[in-house]
Amino acid sequence: MPITPAIFPELINAIETVIKQNADAVTELDQAIGDGDHVFNLQRGLQALQTASTEISQLDWPAAWQKIGMVLMASVGGASGSLYATLFISLSKNSLNKNLDCQTFAESFALAIDAVKQRGKSDVGEKTMLDVLVPVAESLNSAAQANQDLAMTLNQICQVAEAGVENTRNLLATKGRASFLGERSLGHIDAGAKTAQLMIAAIVSVLSKQL
Ligand code: ADP
Ligand code: MG
Repeated sequence: MPITPAIFPELINAIETVIKQNADAVTELDQAIGDGDHVFNLQRGLQALQTASTEISQLDWPAAWQKIGMVLMASVGGASGSLYATLFISLSKNSLNKNLDCQTFAESFALAIDAVKQRGKSDVGEKTMLDVLVPVAESLNSAAQANQDLAMTLNQICQVAEAGVENTRNLLATKGRASFLGERSLGHIDAGAKTAQLMIAAIVSVLSKQL
């Protein structure tokens, strides 16, 4: 059975739970090299998505992604809000009128990540959420092209995301607030990379139960 946005309430609950459980730890990371508001920003967006959850669950994926992007744009301050809004709005545009399967989703997701890069004038290697999102998009694409088993792909994505987070520790921040610190950003994990990984892990755990 295809996975529809009917699963959205479960996804948003899982994401909210994992962000809540890790809120203090992530805020500590963010206080070290950011301004400490990242969890607060995300939680405001998640709360707004909770409010829109029933409506979103009744849409098709492109309409759901568009709505998610608009809700995030309107509710989240901070760099991460407009970047995630861009991700979802682009995902919506790129998946319109496509027969959504693993391959077309992987292609649309990669294009959405490209849009995030453009929006933030950033790329992988700059100690941001992109250090998780880019390797995840690449892993998804190679798995889809190889027609790899979905359970294995989901598992692999989690591992790639974790490696991406750890990788930010030794990167020099050149984008976002952490870049103001120059070399003092070295040795710290990026908070936005960490929350991207936590959200991906939550999504994977919900989707894995559908297989
Ligand atoms: P702000 O930086 O405006 O306070 P947040 O605290 O919500 O916004 O988000 C900070 C996170 O956003 C960073 O940890 C980083 O992962 C990500 N980020 C910041 N700037 C960029 C950028 N230009 N490109 C990609 N990700 C970015
Ligand atoms: Mg911040």
